[in-house]
Order: sequence, then structure tokens, then C-alpha cells
Amino acid sequence: MKTPISLWMDDPAIQSQARPRLESNLSVDVAIIGAGFTGLWTAYYLKKHNPSLTIAIVEAEYAGFGASGRNGGWLIGGLMGEDQLLSTLPEDERRNKRQLLFSIPDEVAAVLHQEQIDCHYRKGGVIYAAARYSEQEVRLRQWLDELYHTGCTEADFAWLAPEALSDKVNVSQGLGAIYSPHCATIQPARLVQGLAEAVERLGVTIYELSPVTDWQPGRLTTSAGQVEAQWIVPAVEGYATSLSTLGRYQIPVQSMIVATAPIGEAIWQSIGLHQGEAFADNSRMVTYAQRTKDNRLVFGTRGGYRFGSRLRHDFQLSAQEVAERRTLLEALFPVLKNIELTHGWGGNLGMARAFQPHMLCDEENGIALAGGYGGEGVGASNLAGRTLAELITGQTTQLTEQPWVIKGSASRHLRRWEPEPLRWLGYRLILAALSREEVVLSNLETSQWRRRLAVVLSDQLEKLMD
Ligand SMILES: Cc1cc2nc3c(=O)[nH]c(=O)nc-3n(C[C@H](O)[C@H](O)[C@H](O)COP(=O)(O)OP(=O)(O)OC[C@H]3O[C@@H](n4cnc5c(N)ncnc54)[C@H](O)[C@@H]3O)c2cc1C
Repeated sequence: MKTPISLWMDDPAIQSQARPRLESNLSVDVAIIGAGFTGLWTAYYLKKHNPSLTIAIVEAEYAGFGASGRNGGWLIGGLMGEDQLLSTLPEDERRNKRQLLFSIPDEVAAVLHQEQIDCHYRKGGVIYAAARYSEQEVRLRQWLDELYHTGCTEADFAWLAPEALSDKVNVSQGLGAIYSPHCATIQPARLVQGLAEAVERLGVTIYELSPVTDWQPGRLTTSAGQVEAQWIVPAVEGYATSLSTLGRYQIPVQSMIVATAPIGEAIWQSIGLHQGEAFADNSRMVTYAQRTKDNRLVFGTRGGYRFGSRLRHDFQLSAQEVAERRTLLEALFPVLKNIELTHGWGGNLGMARAFQPHMLCDEENGIALAGGYGGEGVGASNLAGRTLAELITGQTTQLTEQPWVIKGSASRHLRRWEPEPLRWLGYRLILAALSREEVVLSNLETSQWRRRLAVVLSDQLEKLMD
């Protein structure tokens, strides 16, 4: 099995374009740290608002090296934790804000069209399925009730009974699913490459192989030069620990993926996903899958957290990490038993303590940042780029007045993670409960009371983290 940065980066269409390193001092209007989706979208919309702005992006490795070039390619019209973010608002406001989130894939599609970026965009919606045990159905139905209760309609989230589910995808125990049309799938490395080229056409300079070693209001420092800027935009998400102070608010969590070899049409006829729907098995294993343009199945699940928020650099998956993903994949799609897995990889993503993303503008210190997307950052980073661009250019618009927008300093407004070893112990405890729950529930012979106990324990531990 290959372990490149990702299947996506292994695409012959991805050029390893040599970009300059930062080798002298510079002065610009906006200095962005990190050339992932957040940094690139922010630069893109800034230039669209004000073409005269001078912008430098300073990247430690190369554009797309981080999660943006490695993810599962779900472009979701939503944010992690949005139900909670919107819960206290009046119904009409909640509906407007949901529409704004739902429209993210269409906004991305419009830019793809304008900038002629081919990243295999397909808006086939998303299926969250109860596909292995009955508790999944119960949980999904509860979630659907909550969605309807907070003003969503069947047009946004519909229940698929087993027959309707099997029309879209054939899973081993298809008990039902929630289907939402507000999601597209993409080849993410192609989007990074297309965006990087688009911002360069607009006059932005991207410096690669230039890790930022220090930053403060008005200045960032690398080993070979400094950039002075009116605005500094740290856009490092899962890598927040690489910049002093930011790691208090955002910790790295790893997620891991495998990709099958291209699958023949006869097998796809039996699996489905004909419209390019994103697919998840609704469990605490946090699975996500997509059928790629070249007819592979890309399948990822929740990963880990390392003591002291250490980043993981080596994503050569262990035999156990591959086996865990294969077991789940084959449980969902028995027709894929013993299928060849050609690629395995992973990446660091950023988790905020509030388990919600933030888009923050500290006008006094000239700092704008976004992150904490928690594994749902492909669409969220587009919204973040648009929002930060409007905040930096001093506009007050619909985007800048949202519950995920924070005006003021990070130290005053972002929740801090607990110090170690509490952070790690908390994670281990929750992981143990969630893994136990998975073992108990996926064994259909387990007695009812043990199933109930496992669910209650996991629910309580998750609540404790809030
Ligand atoms: C395996 C995996 C699967 C995922 N699947 C999905 C999915 O299907 N859908 C979804 O919505 N989200 C998904 N996510 C999350 C999503 O990919 C991220 O939220 C999103 O890409 C974050 O973009 P970003 O630009 O903020 O960060 P990144 O893409 O991580 O970019 C940060 C950049 O900053 C650079 N950097 C770091 N430190 C420094 C420094 N000191 N100096 C200079 N540069 C620095 C890094 O090299 C990197 O290029 C997934 C994440 C992972 C890891």
C-alpha cells in the first residue's frame, strides 16, 4: 500500500510547482501563515474585495501539505456544532443562518466555474446511514426530530426508509438514513492547487518551505526573513501548536483514511452512490466515505490525540490502523471483502475546546484567524475566508454578524483546553468508552441492558466534555 501525502496528491494533475522561499524581509498589508484552504480562501476574497492589497502567504511546507490536501473531500454546507450555535436564536434568524451554511457548496461551485478549477465537484448530497445496528437508527431519528424542531424541513434533511436507502446505497444492514442535499464531494488537492494558482493570478505571493518560527501583532518571523504587515492571519488549523499561544485554543487530532483500488462497474452497480453522494455510517467511529471520479471508495474514520498535543508527521498507517478501517469498510460493504487497498494516509485537524469553529477578528492587534473546524473544514474554510476578508476590510455584513464570529482577542474570547495530563486523560477515557460502545453495539448478540449501558456511558462522557 502506498503512503504518499494522500491519494489526492498522487494525482498526475497535481504539479509540484517550485515556489520561492521567503529569503528577505518584506512589508505587506496582509501576511497569512499557512497555504491550506483557510489561508487561500482568505487571500482570494481579500483580493476580490480590494485588488490593491498586498498579500503574502508564508507556508512551512507547500500548498496543501496540511489537512487541505489530505481530507475525505466532503464539502459540507454546514459547520460542526451548528445546532448548538444556532439553538438560542429566534426561528427566522436560525433559518436564515442555516440557508447561509447550506449555500456554501454553491458558492464554491461558482468560484470553481469562474476560476476554471476542475476538482471533480459533484453535489450529490450526503447520506448518514443506520447501517450496522439498531441504535444508529434511534440516534438518527432523534437528530432528525431535533432538526425539524429547530425549523429544518424535509427538503433539507429527509428520512430514507430502507428501500429508499438501498436505491442510493446498498449497505449490509440498511435500517434507514438521513439524506441531505447540502453537500458536495471534491478531489481536495485539485481544489488547493486551483486556488493557489487563482490567488497568484490575482497578485498574491506564496512562499513555501518557510516555517514561521515566531509571530506577534504586525510581524511574523522565519529563519530567513521577517514579514511586517498591518494584518497577520494565522491559518494553520491542526498545526496551531506550531505557533506560540495558539495551541491553547486548538489541539491537533488525527484522522486516517484508506482508498481502494478502482472498483469495477458491476460492483458499483450493487453498491450505488451513483450521484457521488458522500456517505457516513452514523456511529461514534466518525466514518466518512466518497466514491471518487476514478471509481475508488475512499473511507476514513476517527483517529487519535497525542499527549502534549504533539503533531503526527508520519502517516504510514500501522497494520492495526489499516485493519480497523478495512473491518468497518467490509462490515458496511460485504461485496468489498478482500478488496485491494492502494493508499492509506492521515492528517492533523484542529479541535477547539468549544467543539465549534471560530472566525475571529482582533482589530486592535491586527489579527484575524479561523479554525477549530473539527473535521468539517472543507466547506467551513470557504465561509471563513469570506468572513475574514470582510472583517479585515472593515465591512459589516451578514457574514460578519454570525454566532461563530468573534470580535476581540483570542485570549479573551476563545476557550482554552485544559492543561496536560488532564487533556490526554480525558481523551483516553472518552476513547475507551466510545471504543467499548462500538464493540458492544456491533455485536448483535449483546444483551439489551449491556447495549443501553454502553450508550448511556458514552453519552454522559461526551456531555462531561461540553
Ligand atoms: C484525514 C482528514 C480527513 C478530513 N476529512 C474532511 C472532510 O471530508 N470534510 C471536511 O469538511 N473536513 C475534513 N477534514 C478537515 C479539513 O481537511 C480541514 O479542516 C481543513 O482542510 C483545514 O484547512 P486549513 O487551511 O485551515 O488547515 P490546513 O490545510 O491544515 O493548512 C494549514 C497549513 O499551515 C501550514 N503551517 C503549519 N504551521 C506553520 C508554520 N509555523 N509556518 C508556516 N506554515 C505553517 C501547514 O503546513 C499547512 O499547509 C479532514 C481532515 C483530515 C486530517
